[in-house]
Amino acid sequence: MRNDEQIWRLVDDRRDTYAALSDRVWGTPELCYNEHRSAAEHKAMLEAEGFRVTTDIAGIPTALMGEAGEGGPVIAILGEYDALPGLSQEAGVAEQRAVPGETSGHGCGHNLLGSASLLAAAAVKDYLRANNLPGRVRYYGCPAEEGGAAKGFMVRDGAFDDVDIAISWHPAAFSGVNEAQSLANTRIDFTFHGRSAHAASGPHLGRSALDAVELMSVGVNYMREHMPSDARVHYAYLDAGGIAPNVVQARAKVRYLIRARNLEELTPLVTRVRKIAEGAALMTETTVGTQVISAVSNLMGNSALEQAMHENFERLGPPQFTAEDRDTAAKFQATMRDEDIVAAYRRQGLPVEKGKPLCDLIVPLTARGAGMVGSTDVGDVSWKVPTVQARGATYAIGTPGHSWQVTGQGKLPAAHTGLVHVAKVMAGTAVDALCNPDIIARARAEHAARMAVTPYVCPLSPNEKPALGMSLAE
Ligand SMILES: [Zn+2]
Repeated sequence: MRNDEQIWRLVDDRRDTYAALSDRVWGTPELCYNEHRSAAEHKAMLEAEGFRVTTDIAGIPTALMGEAGEGGPVIAILGEYDALPGLSQEAGVAEQRAVPGETSGHGCGHNLLGSASLLAAAAVKDYLRANNLPGRVRYYGCPAEEGGAAKGFMVRDGAFDDVDIAISWHPAAFSGVNEAQSLANTRIDFTFHGRSAHAASGPHLGRSALDAVELMSVGVNYMREHMPSDARVHYAYLDAGGIAPNVVQARAKVRYLIRARNLEELTPLVTRVRKIAEGAALMTETTVGTQVISAVSNLMGNSALEQAMHENFERLGPPQFTAEDRDTAAKFQATMRDEDIVAAYRRQGLPVEKGKPLCDLIVPLTARGAGMVGSTDVGDVSWKVPTVQARGATYAIGTPGHSWQVTGQGKLPAAHTGLVHVAKVMAGTAVDALCNPDIIARARAEHAARMAVTPYVCPLSPNEKPALGMSLAE
């Protein structure tokens, strides 16, 4: 028999421990595959909770997994702990002020993401034991969501092969089931090699790699008119060939981030960008080499799991923020523009309510957002196993994603309340699935039916490796 109170109490009992874990990770912001201290914190917590821990998942030193329980279905709960460059911010301060000596910050709230997911897994572990139930719960510590998309490599290398369902969440302004909408994408580095020469006395001897990068940009910009309207192509110069204008640039490097609604639209677009790079090399008599940095699929929804998660949200009600939480959130909201606040409601498909600093509702399952979406490496997990994601209110309504305001709110009591709240939703959903085999059966049948129409083709080839040495600040 199901006992809501018991699973939620098992979460509540750990509130202070996991708020402290989140705060410690907030205090050591680490980027893309360099999350060594954060991963060590999560490993130590898994060991303290008695999980069986595996590290170096898919050959990635900061990827780990903890498992508890025996037999039965396998429930995966996914966490992250990577930070972002340039988003350092003093905790609780509602004006932009970096932490002295620090440049990176948890501007996407992954300190909360990892901690709440591990908390949910720990509560489910104790629930299984207390009720003598078969079943295994796993916490997956997934690094480099920003920039590296490590889950794609973890999926490709089999880390989720025996998982029945996966559950995750992301910090947000509102609480509810995440609408399964995200773009497939890939990051590719193009490195052009030319020939250096004196730009005045021997320009005819040089072949400019920088010219090639610029011509590639021109070619891609002409392509934009002839691609699907919701595809996106972004680029950043990683190496413009040096600072001397009188030296013909022998080497130049550009990173392309190409997004499309799904893999079927992404794959031909990537082929076209590659052709443009080859054309730029041909025009400039340079050569071009490529390295795939990451590739992720769009999210696949699962209505059986979304329904189960939504019922947990409804039973639990919205997070109980205090008057003090709302006052603090209002100070952060005052740093935002009206259009940020309007966009926050539109993204959820909710009517705009001005003057409300924090979420006090559960987003209806039928709400449909405005469709302006990014990408997440949870996408590939969702093609491998039935997956559901929550959004958990942890910050003021209108807070822009990837901003100093997210970092600044990441240690507030409201963030901790949101962390515990969404952990209860995830743990409750996992327990429902473990106690009602019908939920997993329906989730898997729905997944299989979708896969029969569009089989999963991993967007990473077998020889592509995680760019472990990559720096986001490169
Ligand atoms: Zn994020």
